[in-house]
Amino acid sequence: MKAKKKDMNNEQEKTSLWLPCPKCGARSKIKIYEDTVLLHFPLYCTKCKKETKLGVIKFKIVVSDEPDA
Ligand SMILES: [Zn+2]
Repeated sequence: MKAKKKDMNNEQEKTSLWLPCPKCGARSKIKIYEDTVLLHFPLYCTKCKKETKLGVIKFKIVVSDEPDA
């Protein structure tokens, strides 16, 4: 059995990435960097045709959809 280390192997994706739709995973046209910080950002997905409010910090995407807005 081989001991496979599971650490960050996507070096190239560390610098920037296209913000994915948290609902369907489709890539948006919003590019984010490691130091990009978004708060309640309205991401419009052309696939779902829906707007999702989300926050981004250090490539961590947090959906901030309010249930009853
Ligand atoms: Zn979507």
